[in-house]
Amino acid sequence: MNKEVTSVNQHFSNRKIPAGGVKAALIDMDGVLYDSMRNHTAAWFRMATELGIECTRDEFYAYEGMTGAATINILFRRAYGRDASPDEAKALYARKVQYFIEMGEPALMPGAAQMLSVLRDAGVERVLVTGSGQHSILDRITHDYPGIFAADKRVTALNVTHGKPDPEPYLKGLQLAGCKADEAIVIENAPLGVLAGHRAGCFTIGVTTGPIPEAEMTKAGADIVYSSMPEFAQRLNTLLNAFKQ
Ligand code: CA
Repeated sequence: MNKEVTSVNQHFSNRKIPAGGVKAALIDMDGVLYDSMRNHTAAWFRMATELGIECTRDEFYAYEGMTGAATINILFRRAYGRDASPDEAKALYARKVQYFIEMGEPALMPGAAQMLSVLRDAGVERVLVTGSGQHSILDRITHDYPGIFAADKRVTALNVTHGKPDPEPYLKGLQLAGCKADEAIVIENAPLGVLAGHRAGCFTIGVTTGPIPEAEMTKAGADIVYSSMPEFAQRLNTLLNAFKQ
């Protein structure tokens, strides 16, 4: 029995696997479709250290998936013992975005285009689910991954209140896809995103694309973890077939 069949069986344990297999894939953006996390963490680190807040660059990998305001509040509570006001959060997030843009366009994630083609060819609906509100990247999606994400199949910072690890973004994604949690898979690269997908009730896939250890994604509730995007793309058909056994 391959690891895909084992994971699907474990996920459904005493429940029936829905007939028809996977109907939709809810797909994170940063660290999944773009190799952008290095730039994001560098931009956060620059903004915070300029404010005089002690931090490490690596800690920002752990906040991946949170809204900008939630990340700023972690810094503010540590340094000042309070949350940022909405105006402060807005201004500081804008500064972080500016630093991110100055670093240039992040590369496409190797293997992501192949992964998306497998989904499209298998008739699985694709929904983008990101906490990002950065237009610099969102505007590129249609150009970089043509024919993959319909305009009405995108959850962004503009239409979520809570952000990951709250399940809200993935519950919105399910609504847009018009399917139930057990008919959808979530594709993530970071623990908070994995936790959000898991809480939404979806079969959640963790793909290692940066320095976050695989064990962190398993701990957050990933049903299966792949060591790279090319490996996931290659195994994806096997996984989709495991839902039809
Ligand atoms: Ca991510």
